[in-house]
Amino acid sequence: MDHLIEDSDRLKPCPFCGGDAMFTVEQREGHPDFGGHSAMCGTCGAGIGYVFACGDDPRHLLLEQWNRRTATERWAVHVQGPDDLHACPDRKTADALALVLNMQFMRHQKPGGPLMVATVTEWPYSHEAWQQAADELQFVAVEA
Ligand SMILES: [Zn+2]
Repeated sequence: MDHLIEDSDRLKPCPFCGGDAMFTVEQREGHPDFGGHSAMCGTCGAGIGYVFACGDDPRHLLLEQWNRRTATERWAVHVQGPDDLHACPDRKTADALALVLNMQFMRHQKPGGPLMVATVTEWPYSHEAWQQAADELQFVAVEA
């Protein structure tokens, strides 16, 4: 994806990872989002939906949308069976954890035993509880 980086001084840091955010314009001819403007994080790739300019510069709108955005996307991995819930700092970690868990479950699956499946889900509890659990997960990941 080609991105034209524009002045992004007024964009707040990424609500998910704290990385620098920037304005982007989709440049691929023939792509459905061609000409669509967005704001995204240059570090983790979190972005907001494309806005198509109809004469007006859409950046003020994107700026407002991006800066209003808070870390409401709290990701977790739910394990069906034991009903475990693992908070994850971001979507990428959640995807990776679910993949690793599912591979383990497949390897250890006993015939006729309980089926364990890990799925990426949104953390249903408070932000504080998620933050604490996600920090613990990172700690565990470093230790392993
Ligand atoms: Zn980010």
